[in-house]
Amino acid sequence: MATPAHWVGMDLAEITASIPALICSYDAGHNCRFVNSQFEEWFGRAPDDFIGMHMREILGDDEYVRLTPFLAQVAAGEQVAFDARSRHRDGTMRDLSVRYVPQSDDAGYNGFLAFIFETASHQHRFHSVFDGSPVAYWEIDYTLRKNRQVGGSVREILPSLRLVDLNRAAELLFQMNRADAIGCGIADLWPASSEPDFQTLVDAARAGDERFEVETRLLRKDGTPLDVLLNCVFPQSSDIRSTITLAIIDLTERKARAAAVETLQNELAHASRVAMLGELAASIAHEVNQPLGAIVNNGSAALRWLNRSEPALDEVRQSLELLVGEANRASEIIVRMRALASRGSLERKPVDPAQLLRDVRAIVSQQVRSLGSSLALETPDIGRQLSADRVQMQQVLVNLVINAAQAMAGQAGHREIRLQAAEAADGVVFVVEDTGPGIPDDKVSTVFDAFYTTKATGMGIGLSVSKTIVEAHGGAITAEARSPHGARFTVRLPYAGDADT
Ligand code: ADP
Repeated sequence: MATPAHWVGMDLAEITASIPALICSYDAGHNCRFVNSQFEEWFGRAPDDFIGMHMREILGDDEYVRLTPFLAQVAAGEQVAFDARSRHRDGTMRDLSVRYVPQSDDAGYNGFLAFIFETASHQHRFHSVFDGSPVAYWEIDYTLRKNRQVGGSVREILPSLRLVDLNRAAELLFQMNRADAIGCGIADLWPASSEPDFQTLVDAARAGDERFEVETRLLRKDGTPLDVLLNCVFPQSSDIRSTITLAIIDLTERKARAAAVETLQNELAHASRVAMLGELAASIAHEVNQPLGAIVNNGSAALRWLNRSEPALDEVRQSLELLVGEANRASEIIVRMRALASRGSLERKPVDPAQLLRDVRAIVSQQVRSLGSSLALETPDIGRQLSADRVQMQQVLVNLVINAAQAMAGQAGHREIRLQAAEAADGVVFVVEDTGPGIPDDKVSTVFDAFYTTKATGMGIGLSVSKTIVEAHGGAITAEARSPHGARFTVRLPYAGDADT
C-alpha cells in the first residue's frame, strides 16, 4: 500500500500539472519534496531532478538570501505572500506572485507549500491602466514594512527607497525619463522641507493604516518645486507585496489659481478700504459743508450790520452767536464722524424728540428759506425721551430736510416740508415729507446707496451716512413716494436701541 505521503505526492503531481503555476513543497530544512511539471518548462529540468535538492541550489545564493525573511515567517507558521522577480530560462525577467503556506503534522511544522504565479498578464493589465492614467504614479519598493519592525528615522529610510517604476504622467510631471528614473532613490525628489510629510507617511504605514493622503512639495528632476497631493493605499497584512504605488496629483495650477484669487481679494479689500476712506472724507465734507455755509452767512450778515453807518450791534452779536454755534456744531460733527469711522461708541444721552425737531429747524431754517421752501413742524408732546446721539440724529434730520428743500428748489408752486415726530409702540417715528418730484418706486432703496445722486453737484453720501447712523441706533430709515406727489422719509428709533451703545 502506498504511504500517504507518496499518495499525496502522486495526487499533487497530477492535479498540479494542469495549473498554470509553479507549485512545490519544501521541508523544514528547505529541501525540495515536490515540484509540479511546470518546473520543467521554467528550469528545463525534469521534476524528479529537484527532489532532495536544497532551495539555495535551485534558486541560487542571491535569490535564496532575499527570501530569508519570508522563509522565517512561514517557519513561524504564518502564510506569506509577496511579489518577486526571477529569471526564466529563456533569459527574461518575470514578475511573480509568491505564496508560502506552512505545513504541519502532529510533530509540528514540517515545511511549506509554495505557489508561484506569473503575474505578467496581470501586470500587463495593470501597466496599461497605470501607463494610460492622467494621474502620475510612482511605484516604490516597500521597505517601509521592514522598517516597521526595525524602526528607523525618516532620514535613514528615505535614501533607501527606490523607484521601481513610474508611469507616463509621472515622467511628464517630474520631467524625467522612465529608463533613467527606475532604480533611482526618491530622496533626490523629496526636499528636506517635506520630510515631515514623509514622516506622516511612514507613521501611517507603521500604524497599519489602510490609506494615506498628504499635501506636500516634491522636486522635479531639475530641482524645481512641485506642489502635489500624495495618495496611496497600503498593502494589507495578508497581502505582503514588496512595492507600493503612490498617486501624485499636481496641485501647482490649483495653488496658482488660489494665489491669484487671494491676490484679487486682497486688491478688492484694499480698494474697498480706499473707497471707504473716500466715502468717509466725502461724508465729512458733506456734513461739515452745511454748518460752514451757515458760518459764512452769519459772518457776512454780521459784517453787513457792522458796515452800516450806525452799526447794529445787537444784530451783530446775534449773528456771531449763531456763527459760534454753527462752528461748534461743525467740530462736533467731525468728532462724531471720527468716532463712527473708528467704530467708536455712540454718545447716547437722553434726547427729547420735540427738542430735537426744534434744533433741526434752528439749523436749517435759513437754508430752507433761501431755497424757496417753508418748513412746518409737528411736535406733539412725547412723554418719553430717546437715548440717542443728539448730534448724529440732528445730522440725519437736517439731511432729510435739506434734501427735501433741494428736491423742490426748481419747481413752481407750493413747496412745503413737513417735519413730524410721533410716538409708536416701542419708539419714536420721525417723518420728513415734501411736495417735490418724489422718488420713483424702483429707487426707494437705491437712494441709500453711497454715491447715488441725481444732483449735478451731489455726492450721494448724505442718505447712506444717515442710514448708517440710524441703524447704529437700532432703528430703520425708509423712503417712499407720497400721494399725490412728493417724497416721504421715515425714521424709526426705538426707545432702547440694542445696537451700539
Ligand atoms: P446727494 O445729496 O448728493 O444727492 P443723498 O444721499 O442725500 O445725496 O441723496 C441721494 C439721492 O436721493 C439724491 O440725489 C436724490 O436723487 C434722491 N433724494 C433724496 N431725497 C429726496 C427727496 N426728498 N425727493 C426726491 N429725491 C430725493
